[in-house]
Amino acid sequence: MSEATVKRVAGPLVVAVGLEGARMYELVRVGREKLFGEIIEVRSREYSIQVYENTEGLRPGDPVEPTGMPLSVELGPGLIRAIYDGVQRPLDKIRARQGDFVVRGAQAPALDREAVWHFTPVAKVGEHLAPGDILGTVQESETIQHRIMVPPDVSGTLKDIRELDGNVETTVAVLQSEGKEVRLNMMQRWPVRQARPIKRRLTPEEPLVTGQRILDMLFPLAKGGTACVPGPFGSGKTVVQHQLARWADAEVIVYVGCGERGNEMTDVLLEFPHLKDPKSGRALIERTVLVANTSNMPVAAREASVFTGITMAEYFRDMGYHVAMMADSTSRWAEAMREISGRLGEMPGEEGYPAYLTSRIAGFYERAGYCELLASTSRRGSITLIGAVSPPGGDLSEPVVQATLRVARVFWGLDDRLAAERHFPAINWLTSYSLYQRTVDAALNRSVDENWQRNRTDAMALLQREAELEEIVRLVGVDALSPADRLTMQAAKMIREDFLHQNAFDEIDTYTSLDKQFLMLDVILEFHRQARTAIEAGVPFEKLLGLAVLEEISRAKLLAEPGGKPPREELSKLKQNVVEQVSSLATEQQAGGSES
Ligand code: ADP
Repeated sequence: MSEATVKRVAGPLVVAVGLEGARMYELVRVGREKLFGEIIEVRSREYSIQVYENTEGLRPGDPVEPTGMPLSVELGPGLIRAIYDGVQRPLDKIRARQGDFVVRGAQAPALDREAVWHFTPVAKVGEHLAPGDILGTVQESETIQHRIMVPPDVSGTLKDIRELDGNVETTVAVLQSEGKEVRLNMMQRWPVRQARPIKRRLTPEEPLVTGQRILDMLFPLAKGGTACVPGPFGSGKTVVQHQLARWADAEVIVYVGCGERGNEMTDVLLEFPHLKDPKSGRALIERTVLVANTSNMPVAAREASVFTGITMAEYFRDMGYHVAMMADSTSRWAEAMREISGRLGEMPGEEGYPAYLTSRIAGFYERAGYCELLASTSRRGSITLIGAVSPPGGDLSEPVVQATLRVARVFWGLDDRLAAERHFPAINWLTSYSLYQRTVDAALNRSVDENWQRNRTDAMALLQREAELEEIVRLVGVDALSPADRLTMQAAKMIREDFLHQNAFDEIDTYTSLDKQFLMLDVILEFHRQARTAIEAGVPFEKLLGLAVLEEISRAKLLAEPGGKPPREELSKLKQNVVEQVSSLATEQQAGGSES
């Protein structure tokens, strides 16, 4: 097998011969520079390899080396704060050593072997340990405690365990397993295309609180859920992702950037290390793992980066953490599949994408979830997956978006028209949806207020009615509307401007607790309820518009929440003002009416 050689090179695809015995998805090193590649098709004696690096200069006859291993990642302390490429090479370290561009074939261990970690045992000698059981802990960053676990394929009785300072390869524990001694260190290896095992899946029911009002109130995501965000350029996709990374109540963030051009993702990526974690006051990077495709990596690496990212997310989930993973953008990954499939000469499906596009995308989203984890004691964790798609021309009917919508249960429709009007976040309330709404509503009815669901339904109804009324106004003008309909439009406008509009760059407005969200919306709906009664009693619509309380409502978003304490008193006072001011108009009206 040593004489395996390159037969043909076609862009990122290399056909090799002489690899007999090598398996599908085995990792191989190609050419004299030992470029990273993965076997993706075996046809009689020809092996098609997708190469994750620029294949320029590769020639027929160049050597190909099998590695006997599938493309795998290293999992252990040192992941947090790292910036990896698609095949888990530490970009920051390679850059420091070899300059700005990753040298082809460059090799550096994913987990730094020089870093020393303090291991504190949790398990006790004599205990029987099953896969997933926690051996001990390492304080990986200020915010993340890394739990060193028994790997999925190992179990036995703990013979020895030490508190020590060591690197990821230092033995920390010895298990007696079926007559054999198994030495365990702080590192695991896992093939990226295979989901890490769990005990069982649970229904995602707990909300992933983001502090973003349109998301939490109207289109909630559950922990362990999946979401799809289309992002036309300039629609605020980067800001939405930053806000989620900052504020979502996930403990670990995995961000995968698969940009077309190098600089398409650098915005998010370069800014990430500078973002502050509002909860700890420290850098957000202290609970983040970044995976990036550098501009000089060919399309094939995008697929690797998506799988590398989700495998690292699963590993942190296995520790019992709630992980949020963002993949930006999965369209770029799909385009890579299309290119490789074309070069393999496969039968093209819709718009040239391979027939397996849908199942490959589904397989990726299925790795999200809320799970009961592998361990002797009960432990739970989740991966929430947020995939950005970038359909050409914003066309939501194209295959990648359709394949994603089939599996993702939340859709946040970023809309460039709203962004042009500077309504941020530019999420279209008419096209967006969440299939977690019912379960999340039930949870929030219990934990925040029994009227959570009622208010959300009322608000949505007003927004939908507004869209219908706008149509009428466009055709026949606003004068054709009844006072009640004009009030509906006013209430919808207040929901949009005073509630949904949220400035990510304002210190207070950037995050709103669920309690404050509920109270803010409740005041607006109270105004609508009171005003409707007043209109029925004959109060002219214009008078309602003149009420001072409207101005107060518009400023409610700026009420601070010191120490996370919602401004209950101010908002209940505001609600009282609504009732008083509107009813005083009604009283006036009655008095006026009886006089005449
Ligand atoms: P994209 O990544 O889709 O190209 P960005 O996320 O960079 O777009 O957003 C473009 C601009 O829109 C930002 O620079 C910012 O000025 C504005 N913007 C987006 N979202 C918000 C928000 N929630 N609050 C305030 N401004 C926003």
